[in-house]
Amino acid sequence: MTTLGHLIDGARVAGEGRTQDIFNPSTGDVSGQVSLAGKATVEQAIAAAQAAFPAWRNTPPAKRARVMFRFKQLLEEHADEICRLIGQEHGKIVHDAKGELSRGIENVEYACGVPELLKGEYSKNVGPGIDSWSEFQPLGVVAGITPFNFPAMVPLWMYPMAIACGNTFVLKPSERDPTSALFIAELALEAGLPAGVLNVVNGDKEAVDTLLDDPRVQAVSFVGSTPIAEYIYARASANGKRCQALGGAKNHAIVMPDADMDNVVDSLTGAAFGSSGERCMALSVAVAVGDAAADALVAKMRERLTSLKVGPFSDAGNDFGPVITKAHQEKVCGYIDSAEAQGAEIVVDGRGVQVPGFENGFYVGGTLIDRVTAEMTCYREEIFGPVLLVVRAGSMEEAMKLIDDHEYGNGTCIYTRDGEAARYFSDNIQVGMVGINVPLPVPVSYHSFGGWKRSLFGDLAAYGPDAVRFYTKRKTVTQRWPSAGVREGAQFSFPS
Ligand code: NAD
Repeated sequence: MTTLGHLIDGARVAGEGRTQDIFNPSTGDVSGQVSLAGKATVEQAIAAAQAAFPAWRNTPPAKRARVMFRFKQLLEEHADEICRLIGQEHGKIVHDAKGELSRGIENVEYACGVPELLKGEYSKNVGPGIDSWSEFQPLGVVAGITPFNFPAMVPLWMYPMAIACGNTFVLKPSERDPTSALFIAELALEAGLPAGVLNVVNGDKEAVDTLLDDPRVQAVSFVGSTPIAEYIYARASANGKRCQALGGAKNHAIVMPDADMDNVVDSLTGAAFGSSGERCMALSVAVAVGDAAADALVAKMRERLTSLKVGPFSDAGNDFGPVITKAHQEKVCGYIDSAEAQGAEIVVDGRGVQVPGFENGFYVGGTLIDRVTAEMTCYREEIFGPVLLVVRAGSMEEAMKLIDDHEYGNGTCIYTRDGEAARYFSDNIQVGMVGINVPLPVPVSYHSFGGWKRSLFGDLAAYGPDAVRFYTKRKTVTQRWPSAGVREGAQFSFPS
């Protein structure tokens, strides 16, 4: 059985010290081990990134972009291999892994345009014979810490833009499914990144804390759960670093009485149960306005759930795969238990589902829970499993208030045929990413991705235009070349 190490200064480095098992969630078997870097190993990676920075910073942006073009090509050539690695360790069905990878590649495409994005601002004659410009300089060593649920895509939200902007990078992927991130980073080196520009350290809290405390690390991008995001933001900021920390979610869909219910059921099914609900943009709560809409929704969803197929990642006929670990399977089932105990109605129960031939896999079947209220644990907390809650609201205002009162504000959506209602919703709802008859309003790579409230700590969102601002600092230069012989005396006030 192999132990996955690290990628430091252009070479694989065997780990030393602590290790952790990696599972194949489809079978429940241990498929390998990952080494958990100690402080010294992380410091080695930071030193490599620091050493690579001066030359990389001065490499013309067009040359940096050419590496990204080659990287994109290599990602496409190796897509099947990458998706198999994602499926083996995460459990998502291969076609879902392909979707993840293609969203990641879109961020590499955006990074290919970096010469245009870094052009800066210029003003001639801000005063007599005086010109001024703003340029965007890289920060130095940047760290990225990523979650298990998009092991390929979320790292690609971060380092292609960070590196294209002239920074060097240390990535700390999720220790639960680290292999695809390491494989992809090696492709980036093959594409032409000099040694040390991109480093990967595997590990857990010890590795993360080293990155947060080391003064050579200038900025930290984090994606993961809200308690950890808040911790990362507080510690990185206290250490004087720039930080963006994206957290968890509870994404609501309002189902208005005039919505096309067949369309709602189709799109909600994919958005709630795709990837076993382990997406930060999963629609996990349907708020039906009026009992008639709620009854129709629950009846149609119940019927749809009977045909949902859960099973191993390798079978393209499955709709979704297992959840990430045995502990997470138990946690998700615990939320269903609590909903039942607190008075909700379990319409379709995914607890105890058996997949023939894969009895030890970490499966939870598609679950539908009706008559959920705002006080229930299953409503207040992020479940991150294939569970759709239905809350009944008397009016659109009541439905919107539920969303606004929730601690998370990542994504939301409204299903309606009424343009005025949709416009009122998107204008006023306190959520960062809004869909109108679109269940998963994940912005494309040339916009930016970020929730509101406790779904994002920091000012700038991930990827897209915000990434250019996050991974660079503005320098404003004011320039004057006095004519030879013309000299003015000292000035003691601003020229007016
Ligand atoms: P997690 O918070 O457990 O882990 C994320 C990263 O933090 C991992 O690399 C992990 O090693 C590290 N980490 C964990 N505990 C730590 C600690 N105590 N100190 C320092 N570092 C620590 O998240 P996860 O379970 O891997 O991912 C799922 C979560 O991520 C969900 O809450 C989901 O909503 C969220 N997520 C959010 C977005 C978004 O864009 N907002 C995207 C994807 C996932």
